Amino acid sequence: MCVLQWGIRMRLDIHKDFPILDQNIHGRPLVYLDSAASSQKPKAVIEAMTHYYEHDHANIHRGIYTLSERATVLHDQARDRVKQFINAKSSAEIIFVRGTTEAINLAAHSYGRSQLRAGDEIIVSVMEHHANIVPWQMLAASVGAHIKVIPLLPTGDLDMENYASLFSPRTRLVAITHASNVLGTVNPIKKITAIAHAHHVPVLVDGAQAVPHLSVDVQDLDCDFYVFSAHKMYGPTGIGVLYGKQALLENMPPWQGGGDMIAQVSFSGTTYAPLPAKFEAGTPAIAEAIGLHAAIDYIETIGMPAIMAHEAALMAYAKTRLGDIPGFRFIGMAKEKVGVIAFTLDDIHPHDMGTILDRSGIAIRAGHHCAMPLVMSLGLPAVARVSFGIYSRRADVDALVKGLYAVKKVLA
Ligand SMILES: *Cc1c(COP(=O)(O)O)cnc(C)c1O
Repeated sequence: MCVLQWGIRMRLDIHKDFPILDQNIHGRPLVYLDSAASSQKPKAVIEAMTHYYEHDHANIHRGIYTLSERATVLHDQARDRVKQFINAKSSAEIIFVRGTTEAINLAAHSYGRSQLRAGDEIIVSVMEHHANIVPWQMLAASVGAHIKVIPLLPTGDLDMENYASLFSPRTRLVAITHASNVLGTVNPIKKITAIAHAHHVPVLVDGAQAVPHLSVDVQDLDCDFYVFSAHKMYGPTGIGVLYGKQALLENMPPWQGGGDMIAQVSFSGTTYAPLPAKFEAGTPAIAEAIGLHAAIDYIETIGMPAIMAHEAALMAYAKTRLGDIPGFRFIGMAKEKVGVIAFTLDDIHPHDMGTILDRSGIAIRAGHHCAMPLVMSLGLPAVARVSFGIYSRRADVDALVKGLYAVKKVLA
C-alpha cells in the first residue's frame, strides 16, 4: 500500500523535487546515473540552507545575541537528528566532520596513533574505497603496523571464512565498508562485528554507500565507528559524520587543536572540551549541518522501506534490460546489493562509453572508482558504473539501454 502510494508519488513529483534534473544536456534530457559519486539535492535541502543564510546565520556557541543563539540551536538540532537517524545512544557520539574521508583520517590519527604499535595488524577488505585504505596505510607506515586484506568470492561477496582466519593476537582494528561503491555488495556487518568482538577487536564501518539506501542502526550493528558523507544522501557537500561509541571517543586524544575544542587554555596547559566538541576544532559547517538535517527529513518523509522497495524494483528492471544487450557483462553479482551496477560492454573502453553517452545527456562514471585494488583484482583496467538514487526511474534505464546500443554502433 505504502509502496504503491509512493510509486504514484514517485511518478508525479519526486523527480520534480530535484531542480537540477530538469535540464537538457547537449540538447537531450539529463539522465543522471552517478548518484554513488554524489547524489543530487532536493529543493527542501537547498531551501533550508538558503533560509538559514537569509535569516539565522551567525557563529555558534560564543554569541550572547539572538542570531548566534538561533544558529547554535539549529546546529544542535542537526546533531540530534543524525543521532536519531542512525540510532546512536547519545548526541555526544556524533562528531561532525567534512565527510567520510575526514572521518576515517580522524579515526586513524586519533584512535590509530594512540592505540597501535609496531607489529600490530589492521584488517581491511579488497573492496574498500581508497578513503578506507590510504589512511590505514599511512598509520601503518608511521607506527610499523601491517595491513591484512579480506579477499572476495567470484560473486563479489566477502570471503567470510578467510576473514575469520585473519585474526591474530596482534589484530587491533577491522575497517570495512557497509556497501561497495563499485560492486554494490552489502556486507554482513553484524556478523563481521560479532567475529571481531569475539577477538576484542573494534570495527570501523564505512557507511558512505549504505546511508542513502538502507536503514542503519549503529546499536543493532554494534559497530564501534560508523562514518558517512551528507552529499551521497541528498545533503550538501562539506559535511559528514563520525559516529563512535562514547567510551571509545572519550579515551581518544583530539586530533586538531583550536577554538571550540577546549575547556581552558593557558600556557601552563590546556584542557579539552567534552564530546563532541573535543573533535570539532574551529567554526563548523553550520549551513551544511542544517542541510543534512533537511536531507534526513526528506528521506524519512518518503520512508526508507519505500526507498528500498523502489530501488529493488528498479534494479530488477535494469538487470533484465541491460542483461539483454549482447556483450553486456555485470561485474559483481552479490545477492544483497545497493543500487549500483558495474559493467563492461564488449571490449569498449569505459571512458569512450562515458564520453559518447554524455553526448546523449547520460551521466555515468568510468574508471577505477577510487577502488584501484578492487578493479585490478578483477583483472580489468577500468569499469563503467551506473548508480541510482531516490529520483531514478525506469525511463533512465530505458535511455541508458538506448544509449549503449548507440555506443556499440558508433564503435563497431
Ligand atoms: C564516496 C565514498 C567515500 C569517500 O567519501 P567522501 O565524501 O569523498 O569523503 C568513502 N567510501 C565509500 C564507500 C564511498 O563511496
